[in-house]
Amino acid sequence: MVRSEMGGTARGAGRSGAQHAMAVNETVLAFVLGGSAPGAAGGVGTVRSWSTETEFLLPGGRRKVRPDGVWQAPEIGVPVLMVEVDRVTMAPADVAAKFPRYRELFRTRVRDNDPALADREPADRTVHWWRRTWPGHTRAGYPPVALVVTDAGPVALANRQEAVGELSAECWRGRWCREVRDDNDDGWREYDDAVPIVATTLELLAARGPLGPIWWRFGRSGRHCLIEALEDPNNRAAYDLRQAAREDEEHKAHQELMDSLVCIDCGDVPEEESTWEYGRQGQVEWTRRPGGRCWPCHQDREERLEREAEEQLEAARTANALLRPCWTCRGSIGGKEGSKLELREKASPDRLECPQCEQDRAIKDLGALVLPAPTKREQVAALVSAPDDPWWEERVLHAKLYPVRGRRV
Ligand SMILES: [Zn+2]
Ligand SMILES: [Zn+2]
Repeated sequence: MVRSEMGGTARGAGRSGAQHAMAVNETVLAFVLGGSAPGAAGGVGTVRSWSTETEFLLPGGRRKVRPDGVWQAPEIGVPVLMVEVDRVTMAPADVAAKFPRYRELFRTRVRDNDPALADREPADRTVHWWRRTWPGHTRAGYPPVALVVTDAGPVALANRQEAVGELSAECWRGRWCREVRDDNDDGWREYDDAVPIVATTLELLAARGPLGPIWWRFGRSGRHCLIEALEDPNNRAAYDLRQAAREDEEHKAHQELMDSLVCIDCGDVPEEESTWEYGRQGQVEWTRRPGGRCWPCHQDREERLEREAEEQLEAARTANALLRPCWTCRGSIGGKEGSKLELREKASPDRLECPQCEQDRAIKDLGALVLPAPTKREQVAALVSAPDDPWWEERVLHAKLYPVRGRRV
């Protein structure tokens, strides 16, 4: 068996042993009687809730764990609490060295004869022995251990708790875990293989009682009442809360961005900033912009603009076909249909050449187009009746603007 009673054998010897026994007795009394300070929390249980002469054999049967007290208070949700009373007589490292032994003890498993587990592998048919011994444990991790320090000044005692905490961190800290998918450094601790350790001074315990806000849980800040101190710090639940808050924040920021990308035509708010869409040019990545449009509205608009341009072009073609032709090529004054330079609007009335002929003239550096001056004969005929020449007005004008000398003909 793991557990064995020592019977009536007193621990330690001589004066120091007696002082230690006294400190343990005062600790037990403080738990039972509660705080002596006005308004302090009352005690819990009776002296029978305690066993102070217990030792546990570690696997192998040679080393032992000997708590100063084993407290059972299932009525307040603490099936068992191991208590170590420290009178500042040993080095902090020696006190800290007790905790790995507690963990080793708590790791011990025994055969579980629960018939419900009969068809499991033998290795799965085991249970932590302490769960059997003190049933009702509900928290993650092992049963808690309390360190009660005394017999030194307040500063020395505070430093001592800190030092022991640091030196035993491996036992109580828990396993650091994180989700790889999260792009932050946050995570949580798993306590399945951790010993929760709480510490206080005997003076505080005697003044405020075991349920007073006197316990410093290693790995946390501040002092709490016992039940609160036994709650695991920075666990998965706390992480989940932080993660949910972060996700809310991200969702909000995303929604604000999406709201800013509302389509100005139909009011559609996108779910994503960019999407892949199929258009006439195949697959395209459509990125929403503030003051821009959704893909369907964008396409509608493109089609409408195209249709309008087409209609405008048709109207221009019809109008230009009714005007006089290009002087040079005798084609439509609007230019060749479908050509790059074709006019998309009605040509101005003084235009003489189609855009192509005009461009060719500029490239060949031919100078301004000068129409042939009216002949004498034409001038005489014009006096009788209006000439049947759509360029007549311009020819008369050019004759005035460009005197015969220097005319390029
Ligand atoms: Zn839209
Ligand atoms: Zn032309």
